[in-house]
Amino acid sequence: MNSPSKSPTVDEAPILHVDLDAFFASVEVLDNPALQGKPVAVGGAGERGVIASASYEARRYGVRSAMPSVVAKRACPSLIILPGRFDRYEVYSRQFHDVVRDLTPDYEPLGLDEVFADLRSLRRLDVRPLEAAATLRRRINDELGLLCGVGLGRNKLFAKLASKESKPRVVDRGLVEGSGVFWVNPEQEAEWLDVLPVRALWGVGPATAAKLAQLGLTWVRDLARVDEATLAQHVGPAMAAALAAYAKGDDYREVVVDRALKSLGHDQTFARSLSGVDEVREALRVHAGVVARALREKDRVARTVSVIVRFDDLSSVSRSQTLSFGIDDEVAIEAIGEALLQSVDLSRSVRLLGLHASGFLERSENQMQLSFGIETASRDAKAGAIALSRGRQVGNEALRDAIDEVRRRFGRTSLGTASELREDGVAVATQRGRHAFGPEIDGDEGDVTREP
Ligand SMILES: [Mg+2]
Repeated sequence: MNSPSKSPTVDEAPILHVDLDAFFASVEVLDNPALQGKPVAVGGAGERGVIASASYEARRYGVRSAMPSVVAKRACPSLIILPGRFDRYEVYSRQFHDVVRDLTPDYEPLGLDEVFADLRSLRRLDVRPLEAAATLRRRINDELGLLCGVGLGRNKLFAKLASKESKPRVVDRGLVEGSGVFWVNPEQEAEWLDVLPVRALWGVGPATAAKLAQLGLTWVRDLARVDEATLAQHVGPAMAAALAAYAKGDDYREVVVDRALKSLGHDQTFARSLSGVDEVREALRVHAGVVARALREKDRVARTVSVIVRFDDLSSVSRSQTLSFGIDDEVAIEAIGEALLQSVDLSRSVRLLGLHASGFLERSENQMQLSFGIETASRDAKAGAIALSRGRQVGNEALRDAIDEVRRRFGRTSLGTASELREDGVAVATQRGRHAFGPEIDGDEGDVTREP
């Protein structure tokens, strides 16, 4: 139960669980605002199809995930069932993980729309879990346009139960707002847990719940009445051990952090939306600097650059390009980012701009150690300068090829061609039709003749 007068420390609420609301269905609504307010589900529409995700409007009619689509359609005849688009969900999932990562690198994703985080490494930063949870929730809403529930607790069991508790719920066909953030106070854990149905416990699906019901075990408090050995005879030793622990509020599972870095990026939601190519370009330049510095800090080079643009109407566009070589400097990242942006219609106001790098190589794995015109003091030595200029030449050629490739794939719409590549950090003014990237080309056009 929440105790509003008290704000727990990291040691009192070390584990955080965040779960996006109606994730797939919400992404479909974001991508197609005409679906707003309608009962929408993602799933198989065929006779044997099953609902994977349902909007709250659909849930008001009793539509639930894992429900056969035929049954869902009967419960809600106006239900719009859409096929899943996992590439889109992955884009949002990555952004979601990026927001969590800004809070702490100690997180464990569970599927695309859930994450556990261990806040203990933030102890010395004097982070307050309730505030951190509220900020996380606000950022996910502002930057992704998605709602979520955040739970805090002593362990994974309570954190996950708490996030569920924080969510909106359907009562008598009406939607009751959730608190958004919920903390299970250790002093009240027992009374809070006892009244939950066993079905609420992790791993207890319909089959296990039915077996437990046969034993007269409906509520978590009922579990305390049976010993683990008896339980094991019915549900197996592993489940019995887990249930016995859960019934006491214990959960020994750690947050398992995947230290393999998969993506690095910078997203920004603008207080005042950007309008016009120049403003977006300027923001991209800043983003490129942030991403490049992060890459160098982590000693990685990235082969894939992605840009995400979200407009004021919350529709969004993402583009990405994988190169044959890895890059880690702002000039190259910005150049690829700009080439990607050229295929995006920027006549509408831009609410969010994201720039991401992924497809990492260790620096030593990068076949072509390229340089794109960034000077550093240590490179100033004479021998270094010669190597650098050769590297820069090769690098700039490879980069131009990569930009040409982006244009072949995506075409271009609204950006001009000025100062696309900087040499020595200086903008190079170029003339349409004459500059090194070749003239403007159509989407699928092949070769571009370059000026020498
Ligand atoms: Mg969810």
